[in-house]
Parts: sequence; C-alpha cells; structure tokens
Amino acid sequence: MKAISVHQFGGPEVLTISEVTDPSPSAGQVLVRIHAAGVNPADTYQRAGTYAIKPALPYTPGTDGAGVVESVGEGVLTVRPGDRVYLARSLSGTYAELALALESQVHPLPASISFAQGAGVYVPYATAYHALHREAQARPGETVLVHGASGGVGIAAVQLARAAGLKVYGTAGTAKGLELIAREGAHTVFDHTRPNYQEEILQATQGRGVDVILEMLANVNLGNDLKMIAQHGRVVVIGSRGEVTINARDLMGRRGSVHAFTLWGLTPQEEAQAHAALQAGLEGGTLRPVVGRSLALADASQAHVAVMAPGAFGKIVLVS
Ligand code: NAP
Repeated sequence: MKAISVHQFGGPEVLTISEVTDPSPSAGQVLVRIHAAGVNPADTYQRAGTYAIKPALPYTPGTDGAGVVESVGEGVLTVRPGDRVYLARSLSGTYAELALALESQVHPLPASISFAQGAGVYVPYATAYHALHREAQARPGETVLVHGASGGVGIAAVQLARAAGLKVYGTAGTAKGLELIAREGAHTVFDHTRPNYQEEILQATQGRGVDVILEMLANVNLGNDLKMIAQHGRVVVIGSRGEVTINARDLMGRRGSVHAFTLWGLTPQEEAQAHAALQAGLEGGTLRPVVGRSLALADASQAHVAVMAPGAFGKIVLVS
C-alpha cells in the first residue's frame, strides 16, 4: 500500500509518500481501507516535533479517516468486512491506503455521509461536542460565540449548538467563511479581522455578554473574551498557539470561568458519549461535515501548508 511517512521532524516537506507493506489485523484489530483522511492542525504540530505528543520515528500521521473495513482480527464482533466506518485514531496512522485500528477506534458511518465527510468527524465533532456540552454545559436558550467558526471544529460547534437550541454567534476572517457559517446555522456572524468586532458582539447582546465562548485561538483572544462574557459566562479554550495575558478581575466581576482540555485527555466514557451523540446527529442530518478541499494523498505536504493558512472553509481531506 501507499502511505505517507515522516522520518524526521520538520516542515511540511518531511511528509513523503512511499510503498510499504500492508498491515494485517491481530486479535481485536480492524483493517480499514481508507478512502479519505482528515487533516487537522495537530497533525502539523506533531510533524514539527513541537507538540506534547511526539510519535516515535518513522511514523504515518493522521488521526481521522473514513473508509471500508477490509478484514478483522479474531474476536472482533462489532464490525465486518465491507462495513462503512470512520476512525477515531488508529494504530498505524490514517494518511495511508490502509489503516490498522483497535475495534474501539472504529465507528459506523451512516450511508448519507460521504467518506470525505467521514474523515472530518472525530477530531472536529468530538472536540466541539465535548467543549459545548461537557465543559461549558451549554443550555438551550443560552448564547454561544464560536470564536473561529469557519474551520473544522468551528463548523461542528455551530451545527451542534444550533441543534441544541442555542443562540449562535460565529466569527470568520473572510467573506466566504462568513457565508459558510451563516449557512451552517450561525444566527449572527462577525468578521474577526475587523477592528472592534468584539464591540459589535457585545452590542448584539444588548451589552449583556455571551454565556459561552468556544475559543479557537486563545493566545490572541482570551483577554478580550473575558470582557465579552455574561454573568456566569464560560470560556472553553479549544485552540491556543502561544502565551496570553488576561486580567483575572474580568472573570471575578462576572463570576466567570475558563475551561480547557485536549481531546486526547477524554475518558473512555466521555469519548463513548460523544460518539453516541455524533452518531445520532449524523444519522438525523443535524451534523453535516463540510469538506472545503480534497487533495490526493501524495499532496499531504500541501495540505499541511493549507490547514495552517488563514481563510478556513470547513475540512481539508486527503483522498486515496
Ligand atoms: P482550522 O480548520 O484550521 O480552523 C481554524 C479556525 O481559526 C478558522 O475558523 C479561522 O478563521 C479561525 N481563526 C483564525 N484567526 C482567528 C482569530 N484571530 N480569532 C478567532 N479565530 C480565528 O482548525 P480546527 O481544526 O477548526 O482547529 C481550531 C483550533 O483548535 C486549532 O488551533 C487546533 O489545533 C485546535 N484543536 C484543539 C483540539 C483539542 O483537543 N483541544 C482539538 C481540535 C482542534 P478564518 O480562517 O476564517 O480566519
């Protein structure tokens, strides 16, 4: 099979494609023919060697993927060869034509969801679900600001929040991104490149502030976020790429709180709950992953440049 390999940490150019031996499933494992792999910002942090998770070299990147079960190892009961599935992590990496996974990492993909969309389910939707429902404990009727709504996690958060009966505000940095988030369910959209857009958000709430902020770029926004939350408001840090200064008094006066997590830290029970909720949303049509760009597996390095560039538009996926 063809697979992307990383032999040394570095820039996008260290992603190279080569022919490698097909894996085969041992007991409790599932072999999946990957039709699409999702590209996440964390894949680039790992490739650079600067992330908390530093894989042993050489490795094949990729946490997200979707395809068809090729074969199963002894004792696997929940999936069979021919089943359509999405992966939530794997043992061998999803930037490849085949990926080996534990049975628990393989989840059914409804017929209405394409493989390319399926490659954008786990990291974006499980993260958005956990942030909104577990960390923020968002309730119907509350207001949520999805701060950075045009990318993978942001679109997922907009759809989840809309389906849960929240008033949804979303931000993006391009006209195309703003149109996308309005189409996917944001009631009101704001351009995070405009000076003083935070003032526009506050005005939209008649000065009350928003109940929940899901934050994709805390190193830039956290200080201002604390000035935009309502009484008992919650900020959930999903993404951050550096240090930030905050004034804790902004929290004190509002009895506010800041939550933060990584998807890798979820308990098995939290993860199972997220998958169950996502399954229902995918089947029912409230959750519709948006694929903005499909590239060939061989173009993984190009995809790593694109996922870190401004102007997000849903997911970037690698198809094979
Ligand atoms: P993505 O698809 O690349 O999207 C990035 C988003 O950030 C876009 O909506 C982009 O908007 C927005 N953005 C850019 N500048 C911004 C600003 N000044 N203020 C607010 N938003 C801004 O990435 P993603 O997959 O959605 O992930 C988003 C972040 O969450 C990344 O940092 C990622 O590493 C992190 N993440 C964390 C977890 C976790 O476990 N905690 C899981 C998944 C992702 P425009 O491009 O329209 O400007």
